Amino acid sequence: MTATSEFHHQDILALGRQLRPAVIAIDGPAASGKSTLGFRLAGLLDYLFLDTGVMYRAVTWAVLAQGIACGDEAAVGDCAHAVDIDIRAPGADQQDGRHTTVLVDGRDVTWLIRAPEVDRNVSVVSAYPEVRRALTAKQRQIAHRYGRGDADRPGIVLVGRDTGTVVVPDAALKLYVDATPEERARRRHRELEKQGKPVDYDQVLADMIRRDRIDSERAVAPLRPADDAIRIDNTGQDAGATLAQAVRVLRQKVASD
Ligand code: C5P
Repeated sequence: MTATSEFHHQDILALGRQLRPAVIAIDGPAASGKSTLGFRLAGLLDYLFLDTGVMYRAVTWAVLAQGIACGDEAAVGDCAHAVDIDIRAPGADQQDGRHTTVLVDGRDVTWLIRAPEVDRNVSVVSAYPEVRRALTAKQRQIAHRYGRGDADRPGIVLVGRDTGTVVVPDAALKLYVDATPEERARRRHRELEKQGKPVDYDQVLADMIRRDRIDSERAVAPLRPADDAIRIDNTGQDAGATLAQAVRVLRQKVASD
């Protein structure tokens, strides 16, 4: 049974309209399923979906495209402030599996920011305090506008590494999604194979563990669950079951407020 048939859509829409502030923060490590969960939950609630990871990827892509060395902290920080990142819901002619369309200085980089070179450098770029300052400010601005419930959508779901701890610590609901590193690497490996990019599983696992370590050990806004986050371990669980679990948690949260 899927979550949409298990839960009545009108009922879930009503839950979303009762949540105040209308902000849900979902964090977790790479390939934990947090973006899939956030995207589907936002769809059910009619909330805006904001994957903060794409912003860090967009800056990393711009840094590489401009030939800036990722180790040049000052230049990377300047680039993060200067670059124009625009995130939109995909248009009718953009139904190619994307959750959002990402534009950098007007260019569609939605798939370019998924390149292995971006994967390899994004954790270094996103550990720089100046990069975080630039992007956190943009994310907060959007979250506050939607959290009041009077924007063009009744709320917002933010997904990332530090949304519950730093970006929107006042979010009404915080989830921390995780799965074993092996399961997460299997998912990423399958995804890459589906895209026709055959890679070695052991390499995928090693790269992911390295990225998680940098994200968890950095000085500013490290990856960790907020004290009041509800943890979901979805090892061995499909996306529908994870969504159903999140809706149950949301229902309990609204009932207890
Ligand atoms: O979620 P995704 O894997 O696309 O994120 C890419 C990278 O962006 C992460 O490995 C992390 O370094 C960075 N990131 C972050 N803070 C966030 C979201 C992503 O540092 N809120």
